[in-house]
Amino acid sequence: MYGKQQEIIEKINPRALISNWKNWKWQLKHCIRDISTFENLTGIKFEKSERKLLEKTIAKFPLSITPYYLSLIDTDDYRNDPFFKQSFPSPMELIVDKYEMKDPLAEDKDSPVPGIIHRYPDRVLFHISNICSMYCRHCTRKRKVGDVDSIPDRVEILKGIEYINNTPAIRDVLLSGGDPLMLSDDYLDWILTELRKIPHVEVIRIGTRMPVVLPYRITDELVAVLKKHHPIWVNTHFNHPRAITESSKEALKKLADAGIPLGNQSVLLAGVNDCPRIMKKLVHKLVQNRVRPYYLYQCDLSEGLSHFRTPVGKGIEIMESLIGHTSGFAVPTYVIDAPGGGGKIPVMPNYLISWSTNKVVLRNYEGIITTYKEPDSYEPVFCDRNCQDCKLQLKLNEAEEKIKAVGVAKLLDDFDDTISLIPENTDRMERRADRRDDE
Ligand code: SF4
Repeated sequence: MYGKQQEIIEKINPRALISNWKNWKWQLKHCIRDISTFENLTGIKFEKSERKLLEKTIAKFPLSITPYYLSLIDTDDYRNDPFFKQSFPSPMELIVDKYEMKDPLAEDKDSPVPGIIHRYPDRVLFHISNICSMYCRHCTRKRKVGDVDSIPDRVEILKGIEYINNTPAIRDVLLSGGDPLMLSDDYLDWILTELRKIPHVEVIRIGTRMPVVLPYRITDELVAVLKKHHPIWVNTHFNHPRAITESSKEALKKLADAGIPLGNQSVLLAGVNDCPRIMKKLVHKLVQNRVRPYYLYQCDLSEGLSHFRTPVGKGIEIMESLIGHTSGFAVPTYVIDAPGGGGKIPVMPNYLISWSTNKVVLRNYEGIITTYKEPDSYEPVFCDRNCQDCKLQLKLNEAEEKIKAVGVAKLLDDFDDTISLIPENTDRMERRADRRDDE
């Protein structure tokens, strides 16, 4: 690998020093942003017709590859290479199927102020940057990311902080982008300091792909800034076990040694990681480096991603090969982010085969079919939301806060009399309404 790095550096600038390689600012300055530079640095040449389509593709969603990530590409077999596929444009991105959407997760509809997405009750996503060192071809936020004309400025960020400050239900803030670690240490420090002044913000999370695409961004100075604002959690985005290099291991170590819990969110991508063996290797390498595999995402319905999508069955097959076959904490939750903005929906193989009054029939990962005998008598704790009198003795001040059950949890709730959840605007509901009007 050292030879390859040397070769890339020399091609970028014959007078550059090899020590520049680990300088993240040098890396950013020399990101590969056009096809000719890619060709010059890799020796790969594209036919004129393909080149034309590639140019058209990057006009739609920009190209940017860090020299570090470029060095991971196997140029002898680049068409099958997982790093090439994730970083280099494909003319397939120009094909937009009718079910694909610009904003498949309807994030814009859940945005009370620019930069904030408030979908779940107690947490928000806070976009503090919309640029990245590398533009992942499978990015779900293609509509925003890379648009240098709409980089959130200080005023916009202050508005987001104000919204969080004025919304006491928010206890968890996820800083996202783009990549938040594209911001300078000082600027990040300022944002984190402002957020830490808000008493109800318990946890701050940072979503970044830097340990994967530019691990040198994880400097001692950056880690010292993050450490000041604990509890800080970091989620990263490794999709393939070969991305866990010596450099990325070093970056992960710095973060973990600073007491930052690390998680990984992979996206299931056709031709990149849609293989149980690859995913098992990935999760093992992650936990070896103190990173908990957190989510495995089904690829979203963003425009131009049909070539990356697998059937859901592939994800179930991967989960089947992980659950029980390896340590529980190495198994991510496989989720489909509901198109239209319903949030993450977990999916997994079926383990519950049948159920009687007091017996459950289950199967395990080896195919053993077993029964679990439920208790003959059980006295459930009736919950009237009065935690101070509850036999389970929570006895915490926070227990006084108002709790509102939603969804199926609302139907299961002792405190709530709702007996069914009925979608609005069905013909039947409209007939009922008409009848009411006639009476
Ligand atoms: S780092 Fe994240 S936000 Fe940036 S292009 Fe990749 S997937 Fe999209």
